[in-house]
Amino acid sequence: MPILVQKFGGTSVADAHRIHLAARRAVRAKLAGNQVVLVVSAMGHSTDQLVDLAYQVARKPSKREMDMLLSTGEQVSIALMAMAIHEAGHDAISLTGAQVGMMTDSNYSAARIRSINTQRLNELLAQGKIVIVAGFQGVDPDFNITTLGRGGSDTTAVALAAALRAGICEIYTDVDGVYTTDPRIVPAARKIDAISYDEMLELASLGAGVMHARSIELGKKYDTVIHVRSSFTDNPGTLIMSNPPGMEDVVVRGCTLKRNVGRVTFIGLPNRPGTAATVFDELAGRGILVDDIIQTVHDRAGKVNMSFTVDAKDLGETQAVGELLAQRFELPAVEIQDKMARLSIVGVGMRSHSGVAAKMFKALAAADVNVENISTSEIVISALVRGEDAERALQAVHAAFELDRAG
Ligand code: ADP
Ligand code: ASP
Ligand code: MG
Repeated sequence: MPILVQKFGGTSVADAHRIHLAARRAVRAKLAGNQVVLVVSAMGHSTDQLVDLAYQVARKPSKREMDMLLSTGEQVSIALMAMAIHEAGHDAISLTGAQVGMMTDSNYSAARIRSINTQRLNELLAQGKIVIVAGFQGVDPDFNITTLGRGGSDTTAVALAAALRAGICEIYTDVDGVYTTDPRIVPAARKIDAISYDEMLELASLGAGVMHARSIELGKKYDTVIHVRSSFTDNPGTLIMSNPPGMEDVVVRGCTLKRNVGRVTFIGLPNRPGTAATVFDELAGRGILVDDIIQTVHDRAGKVNMSFTVDAKDLGETQAVGELLAQRFELPAVEIQDKMARLSIVGVGMRSHSGVAAKMFKALAAADVNVENISTSEIVISALVRGEDAERALQAVHAAFELDRAG
C-alpha cells in the first residue's frame, strides 16, 4: 500500500472546524488506499503566544526550556487531530517527536534530524491506523526535547516522507501553492505550477516563508516530491521536484524579501594578512552569522573598509565586536545601519541568459530605490535596500520580470 505524508500548518488547524476538515482529508486519503501519516503544526499563532509568554517570565529564557515549552503547541494539535479522526469513525494515534524516534542533535531551537526510527511507524500503519506526528520537534541523545527552528514542521514532514520512502509529501497551507513572491506583499503574484529544488531552496533561504528551507534540502537529497497546496480547496498546488518541465526557459522564477537585515562597516582596518581572520573569528566566536562580505580599499595608506550584513537580532553583539576591534586597530569609525532589507531574484535560467542584473537594477532605479549593496551567486542576484523602500522595490522587480504574467 502506498504511504502518503500530509502536513497541516498552523492556519490549517487553527480551530475545531479546521481540525475536522484536515481530519476528513486524511480519512479520504486513507479510504483511497493509502497508508497515511499526518504531521501537524501548533494551532494558529499558538507558538508565537508561547514565545511571548516565555519573555514575560524571563529576559533570556533558557534555550532548553524554550524548546520544551514550544514543543507543547504541537502536542495539543496532534491529540485533537487524533480525536477528530476517531470522531469520524477511523483509527488514529498521535505521537510526539520522541515517541516516533525523531533523533536530533542538541542544538536547541535549530536542531538537525539525525535519524528516524521507522519501525514503530510502520507497525502502526500496518495496523491500519492513521499516524499523527508532532511537527517541529525531536529528541537528543540525552532525551532532551529539541525543536527544528520556526516553520520546522515542513522539515518533519519531508524527513518522514523520505524515511518511509513515501515518494511524495503533501504540504497543506493557507495559500494554494508557492507564488512568484509573497502574495501578501504583491497581490499580482502568481502561483508556480512546478519549481526545482534548487530554486525553491534559494527562495526559502532568502525569505519566502512558505517553506522551511531545510525541508527542501531533504527533499532534494532523497528525491521526495513536495506538493504545496491549499488546505481549503482541492486545487493542485506547486510541485517541488528535480526537473520541472521547461526549467531553463524561465529566467527568473521568483523574488523574495528578507527584512531585519543590519549592515555593519568597519572603517580603516589595516590592509595586511590576518585582518579578515581576526574580524570574522571574533564574530564566529559569538555565533553571529555573516553575509554579503565586501572589502574595499580605503586609502593609499594601506587601510581597508570591511562591510557585511547580519540579522538585526545580532546587531547588539556585532556592535560589541565593533567596539573591541575599534580599540585594537584604532579604527576611525564603525558604521551601523539597521532596518535594511535584502531583495533577491532567483532562477536557474539566469545561468544561460544575460542582462538579468541590468534589468533588475533598471527597475529599481525607475522606482527610485537606492541599491546599498549587491551580491550574486549562480542562480541569485540580491540587492540590499532600505527597509522603507523594500515593498516598492519588490513590486517593481516583480513587474519588470513579468512574473505576474502566465508563464
Ligand atoms: P503554515 O502555517 O501552513 O506553515 P506559513 O505561514 O508558514 O504557513 O506559510 C504560508 C505563508 O507564506 C503564506 O500565507 C504567505 O503569506 C507566505 N509566503 C511568503 N512567500 C511566499 C511565496 N513565495 N509563495 C506563497 N506564500 C508565501
Ligand atoms: N509551530 C512551529 C512554528 O510556529 C512550527 C511550524 O509551524 O512549522 O514555527
Ligand atoms: Mg510554515
